Amino acid sequence: MKWGIIATWEMALEGVIKVSNGLDKGMNSADAVEEAIKVVENNPKYRSVGYGGLPNEDCEVELDAAFMDGDTLSIGAVAGIRNFKNPISIARKLSIERFNCFLVGFGAEKYALANGFEEKNMLTKESIDIYEEKKKKIIEGSISPYEGHDTVGMVSLDMDGKMCVGTSTSGLFMKKKGRVGDSPIPGSGFYVDDNIGGAVATGLGEDIMKGCISYEIVRLMGEGHKPQEAAEKAVEKLNRELIKRRGKAGDISVVCMNNKGEWGIATNIDKFTFAVATADLNPTVYLARNEGGKTRMELVKE
Ligand code: ASP
Repeated sequence: MKWGIIATWEMALEGVIKVSNGLDKGMNSADAVEEAIKVVENNPKYRSVGYGGLPNEDCEVELDAAFMDGDTLSIGAVAGIRNFKNPISIARKLSIERFNCFLVGFGAEKYALANGFEEKNMLTKESIDIYEEKKKKIIEGSISPYEGHDTVGMVSLDMDGKMCVGTSTSGLFMKKKGRVGDSPIPGSGFYVDDNIGGAVATGLGEDIMKGCISYEIVRLMGEGHKPQEAAEKAVEKLNRELIKRRGKAGDISVVCMNNKGEWGIATNIDKFTFAVATADLNPTVYLARNEGGKTRMELVKE
């Protein structure tokens, strides 16, 4: 039986390894996505997701996360949530709500508290040190704000053919308080329909949103494109249009999988890592780069 999971950035590997054993034994894709993303959220070494995430301009960690079920098309999302350990679990729980399934800021925190989610101060000593150091450099003018980011996003397929996606991020480093990126926005940061497949994105949310790129990739797969073709087509088009109309394009990287377990990725940057595992492929990390408009891939770690 087919199963698979694909995720943005090398930081996802540990979680992918953990749940690939489960998927191979019949774990469902919703649990797989939630469990694997929690591994990243809980590790302070990963500075752009969950505990130890990148602070906003007020040195607060405000997190965005989303969960989508490709069978029911249910969506749950939180944005700008503070002081809760696992935003992905809150997003998943919200996805079963008929109303009020996307909550922001204080409303999201109130819901999380009422529903028994674990509270935690997500700011670490390391994040504060990085904040202080970068703030100094920004004032000196040697770096520009918004340079640090990275979202963990995952698409998973289980042996029953069910697909789910999830995202979790602290968004752009030094973002304005209340800023929300693409990651919790349906169609932009994520989309899945298990009649077709799913996609997730990472990069500059403000630009990713302009192309609703995750929905676009699923739409292209639905028209019959293979995942790799769909991912490249969507990234190339958005990158080209942004450059044509606005003079520049921010970072855009995507991973996707169809309901046969075939996968694809694309990027407009020169260093995008991702982790993937399927029934036929042990958990593996690849490095992807954009060379002259085409995405090239090389093996990093098996
Ligand atoms: N897309 C995220 C955001 O803009 C950041 C990232 O994926 O690097 O919030």
